[in-house]
Amino acid sequence: RVVSAAPASPKEEAIERALRPKLLDEYVGQMKVREQLEIFIGAAKKRAEALDHVLLFGPPGLGKTTLSHIIAQELGVNLRQTSGPVLEKPKDLAALLTNLEANDVLFIDEIHRLSPVVEEILYPALEDYQIDIMIGEGPAARSIKLDLQPFTLVGATTRAGMLTNPLRDRFGIVARLEFYTPEELARIVKRSAGLLGAPIEAEGGFEIARRSRGTPRIANRLLRRVRDYAEVKGSGTITKTMADKALAMLDVDPQGFDLMDRKLLEAVVHRFDGGPVGLDNIAASIGEERDTIEDVIEPYLIQQGFLQRTPRGRVATLAAYRHLGVTPPTTEGG
Ligand code: ADP
Repeated sequence: RVVSAAPASPKEEAIERALRPKLLDEYVGQMKVREQLEIFIGAAKKRAEALDHVLLFGPPGLGKTTLSHIIAQELGVNLRQTSGPVLEKPKDLAALLTNLEANDVLFIDEIHRLSPVVEEILYPALEDYQIDIMIGEGPAARSIKLDLQPFTLVGATTRAGMLTNPLRDRFGIVARLEFYTPEELARIVKRSAGLLGAPIEAEGGFEIARRSRGTPRIANRLLRRVRDYAEVKGSGTITKTMADKALAMLDVDPQGFDLMDRKLLEAVVHRFDGGPVGLDNIAASIGEERDTIEDVIEPYLIQQGFLQRTPRGRVATLAAYRHLGVTPPTTEGG
């Protein structure tokens, strides 16, 4: 896909970092989460204690990493960042934990992908700020307890349901990030355009916002592509016309769906008669990983009312038929 929500090249990541809001006040949308965090962060600071552990979940690109940085910044502590698959051995995690200073934030992205042995040493760390580590080898090996500084774990995952119960139970604050409204995304696009020094008209910004799948990362990426287009094909200013043309070139349709979105809807409608169809059949049919479908593609289609998740599988809604220009099957007698 041309513009996916998944993190990409180092250059893209550097630009993303530059566009990241640094403080809670600059973080657009997510009112409920922001309100909660403001209170809990304020209280932790007042008592000079570590903030409770925080679990953030929601589709990629909605601002989980950004929020973890903001939490550390607002607490006035260091942030250490890692991810589930990177922590292969217990000692990888132990090294990170023992280097934390008082009340620091440890951010673990994709926390659902921690290996069970690593997860095991995380439990006492989260509960009592202690870890058990093995010293020596063979018959002389013994386990010793190490005290850690109090710290805050911020875990991020695409679906809360993928965490084991004992891990999930250890988070005091659990926040679900929601897709952003076009108005919220328009504010993000405007701010990013300002930071990039890109001239933009309100309608141009709104068109990008409206077609960004409710996702700030996609909005920022589309903004940069539209800006390129406007520089080459226009006067450089991002107008509605420039946005329309550039987005059409990028295969983002008027609804804001991209190629994969349409491929999925088309498969359900044409190959599976509108469903219900199981995830594995869809995956095989469109040549995409099951996890990508579940974490990235379908949440937005479901939120927008084009797809339904039923106990028997996925079902295309009337809106999906309409979007594809296909006459929906009529139900007899009814
Ligand atoms: P995630 O960790 O959930 O995949 P990120 O935190 O990396 O998402 O966010 C992706 C990009 O979107 C960031 O670079 C940031 O610029 C932008 N972004 C995310 N959330 C917000 C927000 N609430 N306000 C402004 N920009 C945001």
